[in-house]
Amino acid sequence: MKRFEINGIVQGVGFRPFVYNLARKLKLNGYVLNSTNGVEIELEGTKKALIQFKDILLNELPPAAKIEELVEFDLSDAGYSDFEIRQSLSKTGSTFISPDLAVCKDCVQELFKKSDKRHEYTFINCTNCGPRYSIIEKTPYDRPVTSMKTFEMCSFCESEYRDPTNRRFHAQPIACPVCGPQLKFLDNNLNEIFGDPIENCLKYIKEGKIVGIKGIGGFHIACDATDRKAVAELRRRKNRPDKPFAVMCAEENLQNIVEYNSAQLDLLKSVAAPIVLFPKKVESPIVDSVAPYNPNLGVFLPYAPHHHQIFQKPNLYLIMTSGNLNDEPIASDEKELQGICDYFLTHNRPILNRTDDSVIRPSKRKNIFLRRSRGYVPSPLKLPFKTIPTLGTGAELKISFALAKEDSIWMSPYIGNNNSKETEDFFTETLTKFQDWFKIKPELVACDLQPDFMTTRFAEKLNLPLVKVQHHHAHVAAVMAENMLDEPVIGISYDGTGYGLDGAIWGGEIFVGDYQNFERKFHLKYMPLPGGDAAIKHPVRIAFSYLQQAGENPDFLTGISEIEKKIIFKQITNNFNVFQTSSMGRLFDCISAMLGLFPNITFEAQSAMALEFLCGTESLEKVPSYSYEIDNGVIDFIPLIKAVTNDIRQKKSRTEIALRFHKTVIDFTVQAVQKVKKETGLSKIVLSGGVMQNNVLLEGLYSELEKNCFTVFTPSQLPSNDGAISAGQVMIANRVMRRD
Ligand code: ZN
Ligand code: ZN
Ligand code: FE
Repeated sequence: MKRFEINGIVQGVGFRPFVYNLARKLKLNGYVLNSTNGVEIELEGTKKALIQFKDILLNELPPAAKIEELVEFDLSDAGYSDFEIRQSLSKTGSTFISPDLAVCKDCVQELFKKSDKRHEYTFINCTNCGPRYSIIEKTPYDRPVTSMKTFEMCSFCESEYRDPTNRRFHAQPIACPVCGPQLKFLDNNLNEIFGDPIENCLKYIKEGKIVGIKGIGGFHIACDATDRKAVAELRRRKNRPDKPFAVMCAEENLQNIVEYNSAQLDLLKSVAAPIVLFPKKVESPIVDSVAPYNPNLGVFLPYAPHHHQIFQKPNLYLIMTSGNLNDEPIASDEKELQGICDYFLTHNRPILNRTDDSVIRPSKRKNIFLRRSRGYVPSPLKLPFKTIPTLGTGAELKISFALAKEDSIWMSPYIGNNNSKETEDFFTETLTKFQDWFKIKPELVACDLQPDFMTTRFAEKLNLPLVKVQHHHAHVAAVMAENMLDEPVIGISYDGTGYGLDGAIWGGEIFVGDYQNFERKFHLKYMPLPGGDAAIKHPVRIAFSYLQQAGENPDFLTGISEIEKKIIFKQITNNFNVFQTSSMGRLFDCISAMLGLFPNITFEAQSAMALEFLCGTESLEKVPSYSYEIDNGVIDFIPLIKAVTNDIRQKKSRTEIALRFHKTVIDFTVQAVQKVKKETGLSKIVLSGGVMQNNVLLEGLYSELEKNCFTVFTPSQLPSNDGAISAGQVMIANRVMRRD
């Protein structure tokens, strides 16, 4: 007899029916069951059949299943007389919960087949597709512990659910129009508007209205992306003047709005169905205000049945943005959105676990997550070494906590982008669930050095051994971890803001180190940041301050008042409310504001992005860099500021200046790390931090470093921004504890 214990994404993805049918076909007896550890199988039969079983199992898995680990035992026969699917077994240990899966082809076909029992039924799903993470209450995954528990299966659904040859055999969210959830269309006072909910939704969207659409991981706020007035109204109500919105459309219309290749289309069509950023088409029906001043557009394809129903309408392009107020967690209840939406397309299947859409930016080498959430969470990642049960709480922006034990780490969905009560509540709620599902009781907690973060205060309250981790060390450690590195490396962290060991604001750092220790080898020259966070929203104040520092006349700056100038001048000369910073993000802000791009911004990184976009697709190879000085561990960019000032006065093109600026950053970085390599002999190099989301910089740096014989590691499974900080914190805390 053979016994298999299998870990991975094996629950809720049609794994048991697959095993059942395979065992029957090969005339093997025994059982399969979901355990809290994964799936357990016992099999008796001929030697040949047993070998065939394993072979087919490994090579012909159901599309959404993934085996992480398979342990095989040879035991003496137990005398099974048939093959059965047994009741789930509870044990301690961690379960893999499947992420939510985009609706499959077969289900979409049935959705639009007139004779099908589930024709136009929005809650159609099968063992290969449908909601998972967002509907689960407890593990192991079974209908009575999902948000489907209140819907009693009708005899038709039940017969399919019990039939091992059916595609819906043990599909936990199975439902039909007779027994399952129902769509509803509501007005702003939450009174039902009768008629076909999908038709109503389309009618009001075409009239320019804003409709809240209940989705898989939360609400979307939708409006017509070709309707200038509707988009303007949405921006006003969401208090979101410029930040880009994502657009959903049918696959056949994608080519009308963005440029992409076939591999990128596969990513859009994957079961995770993320939002992906692509270059916009010049001639496009999408109005500019959807992603203003931005050459790219985030797009995604219909991934839930109601999306497919909505996008049956030809030539439809909808903004589908997360249903929240600025930076708050996503809403799962229409009541929270009455201030924004005119109408609601909603339903009565509760969303138990909220999760925003994931966002990916393709690049030449590896795709980069800007946000890792729906479709990916809560799949764990493998770690290069075993940890004790540990919680990393993250930072302040793009909060996502990390829980680790043994050699696995579970990242939470995107939680929120601030220190608000709502963000903290969602953080606590999700953490409690993750601890329960994955059976992790933290014995160690790690947080940021910055004392004012909600996540820091949360960690301090836990009464556990606490390690406070320097922000940029955590950035580097996160990239090391996902690349399975456990050795000293050169770590670059180009970032916006992070609390430094000396109390200054760091963000342009070159380290040498591992998880346990790090040494700062180079950093950008400290510059005065007048008013701290206030300056970040007004990059022109940064430019004013840096120009003063460079001894240049800031008279050419636009978007700054005489009063502002006076105040900042006073702050700097009296050293009042002035912070020292080595941030690379701020250097980008400074140059961007000097060029008059965005003197004041309305969302994070707006000015730095504008500077990147100026480069277009021009090559950096031909342009010369500006001068700079590297001495004593400091990269002095004052000569760069002077040269840019001179170019601006000489009315040189902004594109040329932007290109030369990027080139300069790449040049001084390569020069600095060559010095580090010479001194230490290290040639493995890790690129991290929010500024690495800049494609021109990342690509340029990557190829220059490769040319100079460095082995370069970049983030691809976790974001390079603060969404990965918690993973780095966990790794560092484990090694620091061992040292102590
Ligand atoms: Zn399906
Ligand atoms: Zn039914
Ligand atoms: Fe950061």
